[in-house]
Amino acid sequence: MPELPEVETLCRQLKKKICDKRILNTETFDSKLAEIKNMRGKRVVAVKRAGKTIAIDLDDGNSIVIHLRMTGRLLWQKISTMPKYSRWKMAFADGYIFLVDPRRFATVRVVRRKENGADREIFGDFELTELLKLHGGRKTKIKTLMMDQSVVKGIGNIYACEILYRAGIHPERIVATLTAAQWRKIFSQAKNVLKKAIAKRGTSISDWRDLYGRKGENQHQLKVYGQEGKKCAICGGTICRIKLSGRGTYLCPGCQK
Ligand SMILES: [Zn+2]
Repeated sequence: MPELPEVETLCRQLKKKICDKRILNTETFDSKLAEIKNMRGKRVVAVKRAGKTIAIDLDDGNSIVIHLRMTGRLLWQKISTMPKYSRWKMAFADGYIFLVDPRRFATVRVVRRKENGADREIFGDFELTELLKLHGGRKTKIKTLMMDQSVVKGIGNIYACEILYRAGIHPERIVATLTAAQWRKIFSQAKNVLKKAIAKRGTSISDWRDLYGRKGENQHQLKVYGQEGKKCAICGGTICRIKLSGRGTYLCPGCQK
């Protein structure tokens, strides 16, 4: 499932590719998606990300809002030949953007643009003090809180594991027991891990591909996720895997308390 760095990678590539261009038309190939009409001649003025949502802002005050969900991908092609699993297409003078989505959970909608609709996300303006005020006293486990999209947008399983490892915090640690210094570590490592992943165009462990169909390179930077049985780079201990809220969770028992 694409997380924040993957969606940010797409947004940056889309921005370069389609900003200031006019849409020739859009076409829907899947009855599960709402029909998107009357896009001809609309100009793209911005491409933005909010959490894991992509907003393509148009010059008429509307935005095309795309959520990729499980297996959605956006693919740029110069030719109109439909890739397998295409559900939607947007045509420009110099090429096409296809929504490719084998499991068909992605959504595309047109909405009236609201300004200042900023989402809470650890990578943006979301302040640590605000998060602590709202959630600091909770009895839930830290990894579960980090992956709760109503608390922080954009962090899924892979990055939650990597952030907690680098911060030295056990994923099952109860939120209310974390010290101020530990919170600061989690926050700074979150920014660090996400920024690095964006620079590597995301993590391609299963089906993530960027706008041009290329794999990301962040899978080579993972220290714990998927590394069960391997040596911890910090203490030399063995990385292990536990189940937490039904998700495979990777950690170093020596480094994470
Ligand atoms: Zn270790």
